[in-house]
Amino acid sequence: MLAMDYRGPYRVRAEQKPMPEILHPEDAIVRVTRSCICGSDLHLYHGMVPDTRIGMTFGHEFTGIVVEVGSEVRNLAVGDHVIVPFNIACGKCHFCQQGLFGNCHESNSQATAVGGIFGYSHTAGGYDGGQAEYVRVPYADVGPTKIPAGMDLDDAVLLTDVVPTGYQAAEMGGIQRGDTVVVFGAGPVGIMAARCAWLFGAGRVIVIDHLEYRLDFARQYGPAEVYNFRSIEDPVYFLKKITDSLGADVCIDAVGGDAAGSALHTLLGTKLKLEAGAATALHWAINSVKKGGIVSIVGVYGPTGNLVPIGNVVNKGITIRANQASVKRLLPRLIEHVQAGRINPKALITHKVPLEEVSDAYHIFSAKLDGCIKPVLVPSSINVA
Ligand SMILES: [Zn+2]
Ligand SMILES: [Zn+2]
Repeated sequence: MLAMDYRGPYRVRAEQKPMPEILHPEDAIVRVTRSCICGSDLHLYHGMVPDTRIGMTFGHEFTGIVVEVGSEVRNLAVGDHVIVPFNIACGKCHFCQQGLFGNCHESNSQATAVGGIFGYSHTAGGYDGGQAEYVRVPYADVGPTKIPAGMDLDDAVLLTDVVPTGYQAAEMGGIQRGDTVVVFGAGPVGIMAARCAWLFGAGRVIVIDHLEYRLDFARQYGPAEVYNFRSIEDPVYFLKKITDSLGADVCIDAVGGDAAGSALHTLLGTKLKLEAGAATALHWAINSVKKGGIVSIVGVYGPTGNLVPIGNVVNKGITIRANQASVKRLLPRLIEHVQAGRINPKALITHKVPLEEVSDAYHIFSAKLDGCIKPVLVPSSINVA
């Protein structure tokens, strides 16, 4: 079968690989119908995630058709069309039982923090991902969710990560009616967080980035007030000034360790790798939120330390909430929002690329070319509608 293959930083290609096989009675094999490239895949692509091994297939955002099930799979049958959450979760452990599907204690033997994630290095379990024609899905009775009749696959595939992560970012912000919410990052997740902030009752939504085309998109899609930090001398001072000098009620970090905007953090985090990426957006979030406010973090950081202004967190009485989205917990509500037209996920997809051209797709997305917001890969054996 054809699959994306990691060859080292900035080098990926489409390769023929062996078909995945059922390794455990609770596995299923899924034929992929759509598979996105995620902003967090770029952390892998840029060589920022430890233990990303040559030969891995990335891809944690995919839909597919079940083609084989293990002997103990009860909820899925061959032929089912499924949304596969990016988290791999056992459904039975202490954390899964609390709905913390992103923190499953069984699916990732390598980490004490995050559970297993498809195609996200051996620090997230070493599972091959869905940027391929076929993928092995462990704990098949837990994560995969049947796609409701009539739902567009392009909407469904964004329910694997972008929509739940954006939604949970807003949910963790504890938004009260009328709150001012600032979202750092106008990537797909930041754009979705801005959209979802309204669903929680925000009164004002502001998005900060430095890419004009993405800010334009966020302005319309959010809708949101947008500002380019390149044209602002001091983003923290600026945000205070436009929020009655008190600061925002809620700040959302939808950037993570790949942030631009600070030469110091870029040097320490991105070039020298002395911190787990550049924590610039997180600095801004902590420093521009109101005293007593909430900072919600969904941006991806590595497991090592970051230079975060923890003194300001304490002295301002900030609540920090953070996690990988618990996709399975959120899916029923999000499917409702999509079906009711309150969220239109597929509008984010700007590029639909055959799996054979995965290398070009990574390059376009990474270099922010051609107005790219969200690229989706489609195996050429699947009819692109
Ligand atoms: Zn993702
Ligand atoms: Zn579990």
